[in-house]
Amino acid sequence: MPNLAFKIIYVAALVVEMAIRAPLNKQRKQIKVTSNRVNRQEAILLGLLFLGNFLLPLLYIFSPWLNFANYTLPPWAGWLGAAFVLGALIVFWRAHVDLGRNWSPTLQILDGHKLITQGIYGMIRHPMYASQWLWVLAQPLLIQNWIAGLAGALFYLPMYFIRVPVEERMMLEQFGDEYRDYMRRVGRVLPRLR
Ligand code: SAH
Repeated sequence: MPNLAFKIIYVAALVVEMAIRAPLNKQRKQIKVTSNRVNRQEAILLGLLFLGNFLLPLLYIFSPWLNFANYTLPPWAGWLGAAFVLGALIVFWRAHVDLGRNWSPTLQILDGHKLITQGIYGMIRHPMYASQWLWVLAQPLLIQNWIAGLAGALFYLPMYFIRVPVEERMMLEQFGDEYRDYMRRVGRVLPRLR
């Protein structure tokens, strides 16, 4: 079966992401939310992300329904995708360690929320979103299908370009000059070269 290894790598990476999130998801239930920006737009953006990263790739991997749209890349391309996805997982993991109890899957300010500017957040302001960029670049290399491979990037674009400004506005309202200063010092998803 062609590309079986890459399909296995994709599923394994999804499992690792869920394992990284699981402890924080559990901890979250005990923390009060002080400000919530979860509206319909935010729900739609998250839904699209779920469709593009999860549902369509799993449909491609576990059913024959999307096979009409398959393509085949040379093996090196699949391995390049595997390297990207590994990079995505490392960044994702570091970001969760450093953000800790301040993490939430949606846009929220939590009880006792602290601005984190240390660790990987000292290099870039949005490591989780950077990790997602690496992931959606890897996706069409691992998921060799015009629909399920490209859906990740396609559905991530609105999430990234709509959500980041809303999130940064929320952080500015909450942390004021502290966040303004942080924005001046630290790049969004790429480290700033000095
Ligand atoms: N944008 C970040 C975090 C995504 S999780 C990243 O890509 O890594 C989303 C939540 O993280 C938001 O609800 C926001 O309150 C919180 N958040 C984002 N940046 C933060 C920071 N530097 N310190 C503390 N909390 C932050």
